[in-house]
Amino acid sequence: IGVSVLWGVGQFIPALQGHFTPGGDIAATTDIATLLVVGVIIFSFDWKLSLASLACLPLFLGAFHFFRRHTRDASTRVQVQLAEVSSELQSALAGVKDIQANWAFRNHLRRFRERLRSLMGASVNQQLLQTLSTVAVSFIGALGPVVVLSYGTLLVLAEKLTVGQLVAFNSYLTFLFGPSQRLASLNINLQTALAAARRVFEYLDEPISDGPSRRGIPLIVRRGELAFEQLHFHYEPHRPVLRGVSFTVPGGAVAALVGPSGAGKTTVANLLIRLYRPAAGRITVDGVDIATVNVASLRLQIGIVSQDTVIFAGPIAENIAYARPGASWAEIEAAARAAGVDTFASKLPLGLQQPVGEHGVTLSLGQRQRVAIARALLKRPRILILDEATSGLDPESEAQIWEMLRARMAGRTILVITHRLLSVTDADMTFVIDGGRIVETGRPDDLLERRGVYWRLFQDQFRPEAAT
Ligand code: ATP
Repeated sequence: IGVSVLWGVGQFIPALQGHFTPGGDIAATTDIATLLVVGVIIFSFDWKLSLASLACLPLFLGAFHFFRRHTRDASTRVQVQLAEVSSELQSALAGVKDIQANWAFRNHLRRFRERLRSLMGASVNQQLLQTLSTVAVSFIGALGPVVVLSYGTLLVLAEKLTVGQLVAFNSYLTFLFGPSQRLASLNINLQTALAAARRVFEYLDEPISDGPSRRGIPLIVRRGELAFEQLHFHYEPHRPVLRGVSFTVPGGAVAALVGPSGAGKTTVANLLIRLYRPAAGRITVDGVDIATVNVASLRLQIGIVSQDTVIFAGPIAENIAYARPGASWAEIEAAARAAGVDTFASKLPLGLQQPVGEHGVTLSLGQRQRVAIARALLKRPRILILDEATSGLDPESEAQIWEMLRARMAGRTILVITHRLLSVTDADMTFVIDGGRIVETGRPDDLLERRGVYWRLFQDQFRPEAAT
């Protein structure tokens, strides 16, 4: 999308610049003025001959209209194809490791070649239209003098016009040729620019899902009670992801949300921080519907450590202080120590000041997750969501992190989303989601006894042979 927008802007500006910058402005204005002045002169010279010279005007206007429509469509097609090429390239570069590991580069090359071929087809078509338009305008422009000379010769033979007058008239007509051709090409450039602008505005006009951040009442979280009431949600029409999810997490409790892959666990977290709006139902925090609150106040009080933790290019310390830019160095260090970031940072030449991410040291998944946990600790939110937040750690480190989190976040609400049932056996309550609904609720031991979905997940994870 970004590349396509930039390309659009890149096309739009030079196209307009050529004609509307001071120089271009003057060129277009001179052309229009020449057309008007010469038009007046030839009409006052001989109006009948002038009308004859306009015989080709309908043809000219027809061609003008035809090429305007087709050039705009062709230009839009080029931009769509270019966006396809860019997204193919982007996804191939992002997944280069998987491509190499699966020996799948031939497949990607084939797809990329197909996309390039489509782009080439669209570009050739666009260039062809532009050339045709220039040829058509030149041809129609050349027809004018033919008509004038033929009719003028008749008038000379009928002694209604002298040869000198006819030659003079024809000379004036040649003055019109250059300006009309330039204005026709301005039309072509303008259509290309308009097609690009239309695509840029398509993105600019997209409604912002949540409106201005100042809208809504500020949320003040006291107990941190979360209530999900009959939530329905879909990303794509007719493909429901949540079908009436209802559960309540009391303030200060540690709750686990577990379920098979694709059951909708992350979606519940996304709705809680209002990345999306539910199709029906509502979520309340301490009894206040989050749809009515100020989104900034909501997100400032909810911390989320998600499964796809992103580390931004910059020092480790900056990455930790990301959610609280004003934090002191001592606070950053304390958070880093608690989350175990210091164990690997101390081995790096610059310690917590070591640049990571792009152009810096690359961190492993577990190390990135420790940075994200330190980030959450520093923020000290009233409500913490941990979405597969410790999946990159070994069981021993995971247990240590859990113990630390429980101690430091005591009295705060924690919602743990995980596949790893063993890591949440001490949760105050567990909710099992399957097929977009909460199907079981209780403490892990009770859930095991029920021999339902939780029990099956447990069997699948720890004793695959027992599940059969
Ligand atoms: P996992 O444990 O594998 O992370 P999950 O229970 O967290 O899975 P979700 O990520 O909530 O599952 O996804 C639920 C369903 O919604 C899946 O079928 C997924 O394909 C779909 N889905 C998730 N995100 C999107 C999206 N941005 N657009 C379209 N569909 C999506």
